[in-house]
Amino acid sequence: MAGLSTEGVHGADDLSRVPDVVPPINVATTYKYSKDPSTWIKAADGPPLLDNPVYSRLSHPNSEQVEAIVEHITGYKCVVYSSGLAAFNAAMCHLNPKTLAIGQAYHGCHGIADILTRNYGVKQIGLDDEFDRVVKSGDVVHLETPVNPEGVCIDIQKYADKAHKYGAKVVVDSTFAPPPIQDPFQQGADIVMHSATKFFGGHSDLLAGLLLVKDDETKDKLLKDRLLLGTNIANLEASLLIRSLRTFEMRVDRQWKSATAIVKRLHDDIDKLPKLAKIYHSSLQTEPFVAKQMPNGHSPVFSIECPDEQTAKELPLKLKYFVHATSLGGVESLIEWRALSDATCSPKLLRVSVGVENVEDLIEDLVQALQ
Ligand SMILES: *Cc1c(COP(=O)(O)O)cnc(C)c1O
Repeated sequence: MAGLSTEGVHGADDLSRVPDVVPPINVATTYKYSKDPSTWIKAADGPPLLDNPVYSRLSHPNSEQVEAIVEHITGYKCVVYSSGLAAFNAAMCHLNPKTLAIGQAYHGCHGIADILTRNYGVKQIGLDDEFDRVVKSGDVVHLETPVNPEGVCIDIQKYADKAHKYGAKVVVDSTFAPPPIQDPFQQGADIVMHSATKFFGGHSDLLAGLLLVKDDETKDKLLKDRLLLGTNIANLEASLLIRSLRTFEMRVDRQWKSATAIVKRLHDDIDKLPKLAKIYHSSLQTEPFVAKQMPNGHSPVFSIECPDEQTAKELPLKLKYFVHATSLGGVESLIEWRALSDATCSPKLLRVSVGVENVEDLIEDLVQALQ
């Protein structure tokens, strides 16, 4: 494997079907069978091979290019989906737990868990309660780290060790810390998911999700399920994602470094900022597991708490460069009064996603608002 930035640009070169320097957008849903019948594989003879495109719900050239690039970037097997939640749902369909241990997580993942409970009676427990009594072989532990909305880390190894003791699988939603910031497989994850709508996409113009797994066999099962669930990434979105992957490393590197510098400045100057009560970020955590789990940086997302609800509500209106909108991971910095999208979030909390703008401009903007 070459360096991450090289793979981001060249990871799908082998799959190029035309001389175009930029992979063309393939909008076809269906593809001609070969003229040589000896290459045909009957449906009864097993899974459709990916070598030649057949039907875009199975796969299409742009989705395969995305998967190839991500595999080169991460070193793991990748399956791409139409959204982060489609990826989470695919992981749940594949693992089919009777009990799901889930802590603080993206509200949509909790929503899917509630559907599983409603339809199939899946038992949900927290990460710390009943674990030792209830979690059994075949169950699932879902961790999100760094966790939404604060951007602070949870100890993957601690829960993975417990889960594996009982034969359960560990899914880690690593959306807030894209590669190379952390590699949850190193701490025992069995499946890693990303909402690629966020940092992989990076331009706030596409929806996508990724599952990373360790072996071809699991990837194959996920592909077969995806064909039936109908959740492959759409053609146009896949080509936008290929565009995004070309600058992935540069963007993430700039974004986490700027976020960490902003957090440091606000934290150091908190006494001079009357509208800032508290700041949350992995760079402020001192537990030893944090440095081990995130050896290559911190999340480009952090949260701030204002002294009261009214101040928090008004703060986004005082900013010039931070757009007041939900989501994260794009090149433009965003801030969100989080109570607008998450019913369980404190009304004093604002979530900040740092983009690629000049960091001094961003600091100046936040400081004037917090004063
Ligand atoms: C956005 C997000 C999701 C859901 O992803 P979509 O692409 O919006 O479906 C899941 N987990 C986290 C941590 C997210 O931020």
